[in-house]
Amino acid sequence: MNATPPPSSRVVIIGAGPAGLMAAEQLADQGHDVTVHDQMPSVARKFLMAGRGGLNLTHSEPRERFDRRYGEAQPQVADWLDDFDAQALRTWADGLGAETFIGTSGRVFPKAMKASPLLRAWLARLARKGVTIKTRSRWTGWHGDALAFDELDGSSEVVADAVILALGGASWVKLGSDAAWVPWLNAKGVDVRPFQPANVGFEVDWSPLLVERFAGHPLKNIGITFSGHTARGEAILSGYGLEGGAVYALSAVVREAIARQGEVMVHIDLRPDQTLSQLANRLDKPRGKNSLSNHLRKSLHLDPAFIGLMREAGPLPEEAMALAQLIKAVPVRLKAPRGLERAISSAGGIGRDQYNRELMLNALPGVFVCGEMLDWEAPTGGYLLQACFASAVRASRGVQRYLVNAQS
Ligand SMILES: Cc1cc2nc3c(=O)[nH]c(=O)nc-3n(C[C@H](O)[C@H](O)[C@H](O)COP(=O)(O)OP(=O)(O)OC[C@H]3O[C@@H](n4cnc5c(N)ncnc54)[C@H](O)[C@@H]3O)c2cc1C
Repeated sequence: MNATPPPSSRVVIIGAGPAGLMAAEQLADQGHDVTVHDQMPSVARKFLMAGRGGLNLTHSEPRERFDRRYGEAQPQVADWLDDFDAQALRTWADGLGAETFIGTSGRVFPKAMKASPLLRAWLARLARKGVTIKTRSRWTGWHGDALAFDELDGSSEVVADAVILALGGASWVKLGSDAAWVPWLNAKGVDVRPFQPANVGFEVDWSPLLVERFAGHPLKNIGITFSGHTARGEAILSGYGLEGGAVYALSAVVREAIARQGEVMVHIDLRPDQTLSQLANRLDKPRGKNSLSNHLRKSLHLDPAFIGLMREAGPLPEEAMALAQLIKAVPVRLKAPRGLERAISSAGGIGRDQYNRELMLNALPGVFVCGEMLDWEAPTGGYLLQACFASAVRASRGVQRYLVNAQS
């Protein structure tokens, strides 16, 4: 940051999700007059939803591996992470009384697991720092140089010294990120790549029997392979198909393949820590009067849901090696990704060539962007929030520099 801060400038941030609130805090710390607008009746609804299943703030793996999670966007995101990495995020959370810990998978969570205590403490701190938050304030684009808002008591217009847009992606619309802004930015010459579901489940034509008996069952400690990519972890058999962490980890490559060629076949390894011959040896025993299912249960402790999944591929083979082969690679045909409405995040957004290194839009000097509205994607594991926070830090530093230059 610049050593001589400019006199307080008026900064408007639109979107009170994790990215917008982080940017607000950074700029309030620089002494600016910061107002955050959000169209919802309360702030950070998606962040609170993220906390429902355990708020996975970031990941503890080494930077090199961490950076690779961002695929094509790795160079940009890694650059933001240089400003605000996983350790910085943990320190920040600790400072809000939301001390973090590393779970067995390397994921980082606040000890309380939920987002609400952290958010409460954060909002109180933002208020102490003088940040104004206006809810039910919907940005509707520009009127000349002014930002236009629809609010409960009518419409208003605001002229700011700098603006940060932190409007989110396009999943879970009911939580606020509705992507209604896309045409307004397009009209200003900003290219926005179409939003697509990311970290999403896929539809499978299960038999009615599988749905009736096993919908909702977790498939723990499995491996899923598609086209040379393997993801380890958990999947969940759902009525419509397959979801869960291991599925989400492959969702970008599977989604692209389905878009190109139609439905695809993935293979599920139900015993990824055992070799084919180990499995075949354990199955190669006389089973007496046991049914094949009982034999599988007794020899390998296979969960009934696993056996149900194997049966979806056809009648179970009798021979030990063929059974072992099936256990190592159960074929499952994924037909289509589920829609944006239920996707944990979205791919697509403002193209990476549309802004400079400080996240200022090339077409709109003084307007900065951050968070999920930018075109990057990552699997679950804390990588989403980490990139949102890090981009917010980068954008707010960009604003600071922009304001300093504007003064000189
Ligand atoms: C079920 C679920 C679980 C998740 N779990 C995790 C997890 O454990 N770890 C993780 O890293 N990530 C998780 N995520 C993803 C993470 O929550 C998002 O990536 C993150 O919230 C995006 O932050 P953001 O600030 O960019 O956008 P958002 O959080 O979407 O915030 C954008 C804000 O902009 C506002 N807005 C939009 N348009 C306008 C407008 N025109 N005028 C005014 N306001 C507007 C919206 O109301 C919203 O409040 C999860 C997501 C979901 C749905």
